[in-house]
Amino acid sequence: MMTEQAAASAASVPQTPTVISAQGLNLVYETSDGPVQALKDVDLKIGKGDFVSFIGPSGCGKTTFLRVMADLETPTSGTVLVNGVPPEVARKARAYGYVFQAAGLYPWRTIGGNIRLPLEIMGYSKPEQAERVQRVLELVELAGFEKKYPWQLSGGMQQRASIARALAFDADILLMDEPFGALDEIVRDHLNEQLLALWARTEKTICFVTHSIPEAVYLSTKIVVMSPRPGRITDVIESPLPKERPLEIRDSPEFLEIAHRVREGLRAGHAYD
Ligand code: ADP
Ligand code: MG
Repeated sequence: MMTEQAAASAASVPQTPTVISAQGLNLVYETSDGPVQALKDVDLKIGKGDFVSFIGPSGCGKTTFLRVMADLETPTSGTVLVNGVPPEVARKARAYGYVFQAAGLYPWRTIGGNIRLPLEIMGYSKPEQAERVQRVLELVELAGFEKKYPWQLSGGMQQRASIARALAFDADILLMDEPFGALDEIVRDHLNEQLLALWARTEKTICFVTHSIPEAVYLSTKIVVMSPRPGRITDVIESPLPKERPLEIRDSPEFLEIAHRVREGLRAGHAYD
């Protein structure tokens, strides 16, 4: 039982509002080879402004979990709330932007035209579209590239453009599925730094899927370690690292300690088959 003092101090800790909560979440895909349990008994709470990484081997349900939050997949059982409402309601309120592994820019549209597309669909006025395109291009440090075509940009710049597109309609939540997986390490380092800066500036809640332990540890306030068959959460690590993170933090003992715990979690969940 809590002492009066402990209760008083617990009450005085400012509570971060919960943005995403999953409870007893299960998702089974029916396939021609029989059922595949992509998510088993997933419980997770994500607070406002958290940067959460999902890490685990292929097939552990990372993409499925993001797709459930985005209302692209319906769970078999359990509940998910996004901003306190079901994913479908949150989607209609444009609560999230989605960034995929491939930048997915239309080659026949300019960078500005690609970013404008969702705004056109949502019926924003022309001046509002123009103003938003300028603002998000500045956020991802691509000001001046509006009239270029995707093929005129490097892979890293294309990924930044796709992040800009996801930011253009002011979603509070960014869902990012291995956005930097196809990029070389130097470019990835640079984008990781930029993403952290952008996160600090915008106070978005970010859910980020990655295969890379250093990337997960460098970026996250919370690291969710998953394992496959059935897809489940095996560890949730609250990062003690400060919000300000120069790349050199990756050599610090605290960083290496978290990386070690992630690696252990991945190893424990691995079936070696
Ligand atoms: P991850 O993103 O971690 O690699 P996924 O969420 O894509 O994992 O997949 C989890 C499991 O569900 C895998 O076994 C995968 O083959 C299966 N799966 C994913 N999508 C489908 C689908 N649409 N139909 C059937 N099985 C699927
Ligand atoms: Mg995936």
